[in-house]
Amino acid sequence: MLSLGRLLSRDSSLSFSLDGLQQGLEKAERRVAEISQQIAQTRTRALAIRARSRRMFAAADSASLISQRTAMRLRAAEVEAQAIPIEATVPTLTDTLTEAENALAQARANSQADSFDPGTSVYLASPQYQNGYVFPVGGGPSRVSVGHTHHDYPAADIAAPAGTPVYALADGVVLSAWRTIDPLCGIGMRFRTDDGQTWAYCHFSYIEPSVVSGARLTAGARVGLVGSTGHATGPHLHLGLIPSSSGYPQNEPWFQSFAGIAFRWQDAPTPTPSIDSPGLRSQMVFSIVGDTASTGSAVASAWTASSSTAPLATAAANINGIPGLDSPFAAPPADSGSAVVASRNRSPATTDQSATNSIGG
Ligand SMILES: [Zn+2]
Repeated sequence: MLSLGRLLSRDSSLSFSLDGLQQGLEKAERRVAEISQQIAQTRTRALAIRARSRRMFAAADSASLISQRTAMRLRAAEVEAQAIPIEATVPTLTDTLTEAENALAQARANSQADSFDPGTSVYLASPQYQNGYVFPVGGGPSRVSVGHTHHDYPAADIAAPAGTPVYALADGVVLSAWRTIDPLCGIGMRFRTDDGQTWAYCHFSYIEPSVVSGARLTAGARVGLVGSTGHATGPHLHLGLIPSSSGYPQNEPWFQSFAGIAFRWQDAPTPTPSIDSPGLRSQMVFSIVGDTASTGSAVASAWTASSSTAPLATAAANINGIPGLDSPFAAPPADSGSAVVASRNRSPATTDQSATNSIGG
């Protein structure tokens, strides 16, 4: 069975160069994710301390005795002072983030120069397009996995290594975006696609500066990097419809069309994409590295024509919605995603699932 990895290895210099680019890109993404998440956590901690101190000052003001008031104000000031050394680390971290962002932009420019063919998308984690939709997490089925269910209400916990790019899943408008850590959703956004559906994206480590309320995004626009901010125990993108009573994203036809192409199922066999799939066709075009005529059919046979879809879990009847309008996330319990990512599997056509991602909760 031929796979992208094997095809690439026919031309060892190309393989070597792509592998280097891939590693450089992933390293740069991880770095931005790490620093960005650290800044967000630092800011969130400082904000929480300042909020606590404000509540203490307010309580002091309403104390009846002057002596009591003085003592309370003193304690409030002590708490406020705790925020200062924490905030003092932010400028340095921000400079480090700027450097990391520049390095990432450079790594992306390098990889684009060498992978102009759109099909390199699996290898270099670029977005993959099918009928106007883009799977929201890059990296391909060796790095990205998802279950059919969620721990309580309908949503998808899409596991991928920290730093994996996150994309707008279709054309649409950002309804809101937040850069401080929501206790549940972490860093994320609400996004309305042109079909009228509203989506919650949660747990980013990094959010693109362009992602602001009212921003118009096209399918595949970068919106951030996978992380574990908010209520998450491991790196993943929480993707949910708002309200969650709209059902599981996993049940959407576009989502399922990416099975085996952009992600693998955690809880069911992942179907090998059908030869008829338009997305696959574009990948096949890409996968033909070097000699077009002979490898075309080889790649075609690598993706055995099986269009069977994995059995879908039906939406749980008990739905805890996300009704909050002001809070991005109202009160879903633990969103515990834990992703243990082992080695990277370069060949999307193999069934080797050496990378073990699991989402708990
Ligand atoms: Zn979730």
